[in-house]
Amino acid sequence: MSRRRIAVLGSTGSVGVSTLDLMARTGDPEAYDIEALTAGSNVAALAEQALTWRPRRVVIADERQKAELDQRLSGTGIETAAGEAAVEAVAGEADWVMAAIVGAAGLRPAWAAARAGATLALANKESLVCCGPALIQTAQACGGRVIPVDSEHSAIFQVLETRNIDQVTRLVLTASGGPFRTLTLEEMRAATPEQAVAHPNWSMGAKISVDSATMANKGLETIEAAYLFGVGPERIEVLVHPQSIIHSMVEYADGSTLAQLGPPDMRTPIACALAWPERIAWPAPRLDLAGLAALTFESPDETRFPMLKLAREALIAGGAAPAVFNAANETAVRAFLDREIGFLDIAATVAETLDTHVGADAAGADVSPLERALSADRDARRLASEAIRRRALVA
Ligand code: NAD
Ligand code: MG
Repeated sequence: MSRRRIAVLGSTGSVGVSTLDLMARTGDPEAYDIEALTAGSNVAALAEQALTWRPRRVVIADERQKAELDQRLSGTGIETAAGEAAVEAVAGEADWVMAAIVGAAGLRPAWAAARAGATLALANKESLVCCGPALIQTAQACGGRVIPVDSEHSAIFQVLETRNIDQVTRLVLTASGGPFRTLTLEEMRAATPEQAVAHPNWSMGAKISVDSATMANKGLETIEAAYLFGVGPERIEVLVHPQSIIHSMVEYADGSTLAQLGPPDMRTPIACALAWPERIAWPAPRLDLAGLAALTFESPDETRFPMLKLAREALIAGGAAPAVFNAANETAVRAFLDREIGFLDIAATVAETLDTHVGADAAGADVSPLERALSADRDARRLASEAIRRRALVA
C-alpha cells in the first residue's frame, strides 16, 4: 500500500482510539503518515496521542483548550490549532480521513473531506443521515469515495454485489437490541443514564450507547443504508440478533443470503476501510463459533422501540425529515444524559419535533444541500429544546 496522509477526526473517542490502536497493531506504524488528529475538548488525551503519533497538526474544537494544548506540545514542532473551522480545514488536507466525530458536528468536516476527494472512512452516521445523497455524490464527483465504518454497513459493503443491485431483495440490518431488549415499557420509563449506556456487547461513546438503548441507532442505520447503497426502505429490514456476531446480510432474488461475521470489535470494520480494496493483517480476535452456545434472532418490537418506526417514516418523508429526526434525537439524548427528561421522553420529543417541523423547511431552493441540512438541524434543535422544556415542566 502506498503511504497515505491520514487524518483522524474525533481521535479521542471510542472509534478514534480504536483506529489508532488498530494502526499500531498492523505491525508497521511507520506506514501511516498522520497529517492530523482532532478532538472536541479532551485536551489531555489529544496531546498524549500527538506525542505518540507525531502528526503534522492537532486541532481542538473547543477554543478554550488551545492554550493548554500549546503548553503540552511546546517544543515538539507539532502545529496546533483550535475551533470548528480549523477542524474543517484539516479534514480537507488528507488522503484518508476517519470521520469519527459524534453527531451532526461531524457534517462540515466530512463535507470538507469529500470536497477534497479523500477516501472518507465514515463512522459518523449522523452526517450521512443529514445529508447522505449529496455527501456521497460530492465525494464521487471529487474523485474520492465513502467507505462505511459502521459495522452493519461495513458488512453489507463487503458482501453486496453492486452489479446485481436490482437482484437484491433485502438488506437485513442486525441489531443487538441494546441493554433494554427484554424490558417492559414501564421498566424503561424508570431507566437511568447509567443503565442506558451499559451496552451488552460493544463499548462505545455515550450518545451512540443511548441510541442503542432506544434503538434510534438502528433507525439512523436504516437511513444510512438507504443512502449508502441506494436501496429503498421497503427493501431494508431490522433483525434483532443479541450476540452481535452476524453484522448484517444481503438477500438476493435467487434465495441466496450473504452475511459477514466477526467478533463485535470495531477494529475489524476500521481495518476494512483502511485497506480497501486490499486486506490488512492485525492480531484480530478470532471468531469461535463452536464456543458460542447459539446465535439467536427475533423481530424488533416497534411498540417498545418507536424510534425504529419514526426513523423509517422520516426516510420515507425525505427532504429535511431525516436531519430533523437526527437533531431532535441528539438534543433529547443530551437532555436525558443531563437528567432533564426520562428515557421514554426521548422518542416522544423526536415524534413531537417531527410533527411540528412539517412544512417548516425554511431554506430556499437556491441553498446548497449542506446549508439546507444545517438549517434543518438548527430549527429542529430549537423545536426539540422547546418540547423538552414543556416535558420537564410537566414532570
Ligand atoms: P465518542 O463520544 O466516543 O467520541 C466522539 C469524538 O468526537 C471525540 O473525539 C470527541 O472529542 C469528538 N467531538 C465531540 N464533539 C465534537 C465537536 N463538536 N467538534 C469536534 N469534535 C467533537 O463517540 P464514538 O462512540 O467514537 O462515535 C463516533 C461516531 O461513530 C458516532 O457518529 C457514532 O454513531 C459512530 N459509531 C460508533 C461506533 C462505536 O463503536 N463507538 C460504532 C459505529 C458507529
Ligand atoms: Mg452500527
